[in-house]
Amino acid sequence: MTKRGCLIVISGPSGAGKTSICKALLAQLPDTVWSVSVTTRPPRPGEVDGHSYRFVSRSEFEEKERAGEFLESAEYVGHRYGTPRGPVEQALREGKNVVLEIDVQGGMQVARKMPQSVRIFVLPPSAESLRARLEGRKTEAAEQLAKRLAEADGEIAMARDSGCYTYFVVNDILDATVEQVKRIVEQERTKS
Ligand code: 5GP
Repeated sequence: MTKRGCLIVISGPSGAGKTSICKALLAQLPDTVWSVSVTTRPPRPGEVDGHSYRFVSRSEFEEKERAGEFLESAEYVGHRYGTPRGPVEQALREGKNVVLEIDVQGGMQVARKMPQSVRIFVLPPSAESLRARLEGRKTEAAEQLAKRLAEADGEIAMARDSGCYTYFVVNDILDATVEQVKRIVEQERTKS
């Protein structure tokens, strides 16, 4: 029988560097796949439907939700996000690791439904660095950027209070953080 893969949850405030960490994990960990989330957020320039996200209308999202298609779902600064359940379960059965880059509300749902998952929260080295990274990547209009920054403290507090995250890593130097996260995953895989 194939050994089940490891479900890896990466959360953290917008601008903490989650996406860079996830990309490195996918490139460096064998048999590791990305879970394509469904969202009602409009695509950013360069985002291709079906790659980082599947972009849908709110009514399509709600239909999928009613049909029980999501492993978890949440609302984040005015948009819905959800993880399709089927592809995650199939990949795990095939022995692949699956990376979910999701917010704390989603992390809490996954902790309940799949307690054997590895849940890691990424922190920025400081509040100033978070602002600088978010401003520097120029993906958000001023109003969205302000909302995301306002959200950050609450997300960090919720992550700590929820007790759902076993690991908190400070993403100062990306390569070092990736090594740390890889060690955590390898250690957790040997446990299961
Ligand atoms: P962004 O709009 O910057 O791509 O993502 C905004 C937030 O939504 C990030 O914290 C990201 O991790 C989270 N997110 C992305 N996909 C999902 C998902 O499927 N479920 C949940 N709960 N959060 C998600």
